[in-house]
Amino acid sequence: MKSEIQQKLETLAFNRTSPFCYGCYIQAPKGICPECHSDDLMRHLNGVGVEWGTAWVIKHILQEELTAIDTDEIFEESIRQCYPEETTVGWMKFDTVELMKSQDPISWRIARDEYIDSLEQDEEIVSFDGGETYYWIHNFEDLQY
Ligand SMILES: [Zn+2]
Repeated sequence: MKSEIQQKLETLAFNRTSPFCYGCYIQAPKGICPECHSDDLMRHLNGVGVEWGTAWVIKHILQEELTAIDTDEIFEESIRQCYPEETTVGWMKFDTVELMKSQDPISWRIARDEYIDSLEQDEEIVSFDGGETYYWIHNFEDLQY
């Protein structure tokens, strides 16, 4: 699934950019520079810039067209669905999530990371930067290829 999306993003990055000779600073739409005949070309993305490769184009597309997941928020939501909203301690009532977070932030963080890992394993979410940012996999269906 992830490699499939990566492949699509790669294609998308290629389709949206054009080959560019940095030495001559001109576009080379045919894949060979019309001036110096080099085929060692950068990619040019209109209004954004010129760089080697497509990784930066993919990054740009992800940033512009998809919304990164707030992992804290989705974890908190899932916990709120599993436990009662309020917890009574003695005669006091507390917001369960706030109580858990404040009393054992480490346990909270570990559980959040496990939850995110499990979503990734179930192919609900995907990351292209080693877990720095996640995206919902179903969101990639909306991308214009
Ligand atoms: Zn050239």
